[in-house]
Amino acid sequence: TGRGRLPFIAGNWKMNLDHLQAVAFVQKLHWTLKDAKHEEGSVEVGVFPPFTDLRTVQTLIDADKIPFALGAQDLSQHDGGAYTGEVSGAFLKKLDCTYVIIGHSERRQYHAESDEIVADKVKAALRHGLVPVICVGETAEDLERFGASAVPVGQLQAALDGLSAGADVVVAYEPVWAIGSGQAATPEQAQEVCAKLRGVVAEKLGADAAARTRILYGGSVKAANIAAFMRQPDVDGALVGGASLVVDEFAAIIRYQK
Ligand code: PGA
Repeated sequence: TGRGRLPFIAGNWKMNLDHLQAVAFVQKLHWTLKDAKHEEGSVEVGVFPPFTDLRTVQTLIDADKIPFALGAQDLSQHDGGAYTGEVSGAFLKKLDCTYVIIGHSERRQYHAESDEIVADKVKAALRHGLVPVICVGETAEDLERFGASAVPVGQLQAALDGLSAGADVVVAYEPVWAIGSGQAATPEQAQEVCAKLRGVVAEKLGADAAARTRILYGGSVKAANIAAFMRQPDVDGALVGGASLVVDEFAAIIRYQK
């Protein structure tokens, strides 16, 4: 982690945990961290449940004063109207979402989200006062053909194109080959690409924004490898999938300094 940036550990639940399971999970995670005397405020914890859980989790963290940030896994690029099945940024903001994941590789791959759609969604998030967690990353084939950084750098340039200087975003570097594979990037590989992504933020949003923007690594993060990623100067946190669904494992990731 670089100086002055608050580490961010974000749990992307994907299509797991219904709203009842979400309550049990969030309570248990909170108690586990409390039992471990985890120091609140030393790292930001975010949970990204499915849309159908958001209201329930919002109510729980509000009632029990649980210090987790809430985020959604996607949003519509449109603000409202005849878009069957879509969810607007305005609705997410009303649910006290702070963040929204945009351009996850599963959406790029299974829902044909192009760089253009991702850019429109980033603008929609910012328009509604949400912080986009912009996901970029190369496939195994991209890695072979272009190396690690060309594709994520291009994706981030497209996603940030036309934004105002200083826009508040989070970036997640997630090599597609590392997601759910058990085969994480090495901390050195992650550092190299994250440093280049910080360069893109500087180029598009300015030097101040680049110094303050959190850049996360994602892809097979677990308790056993998180500390090595966090030692990299340009890795400011993690976007965690599978390991964010296991209370003890996710708590151990959050407590990576211990
Ligand atoms: P993983 O997923 O931690 O299960 O590899 C990460 C992600 O897709 O955000």
